[in-house]
Amino acid sequence: MHELSLAQGIVEQAVMAAAQSRAARVVAVRLRVGRLSGIEPGALVSSFEVASRDTILAGSRLDIIDVPLVVWCAYCLREVELPGVQRLRCPTCDTLCGEIRQGKELEVAALEIEEAAA
Ligand SMILES: [Zn+2]
Repeated sequence: MHELSLAQGIVEQAVMAAAQSRAARVVAVRLRVGRLSGIEPGALVSSFEVASRDTILAGSRLDIIDVPLVVWCAYCLREVELPGVQRLRCPTCDTLCGEIRQGKELEVAALEIEEAAA
């Protein structure tokens, strides 16, 4: 149950963020998930439902933002977006690009909340 432990980490992050923003209720949790994170979104959503039970996040929606894979090409001297991890080569010059700049993310990007009445 890899996704469940990940979901528990996400719930912890989001509960802290909700407390800081004095949320009365959390409507949605926006999560940035990189292509390289190896996460199966469907499994993560159901694990999130389990992990968020009995917290302020109960009943909230998990919005997954897909983060593409971006590597640095040392030959072209620019960041290039790759369609997948099977081939870590620059599509322009075919240089092997080992430096991953984006795509490993698994982080809470934002919360959609209802604020407590002042
Ligand atoms: Zn290149």
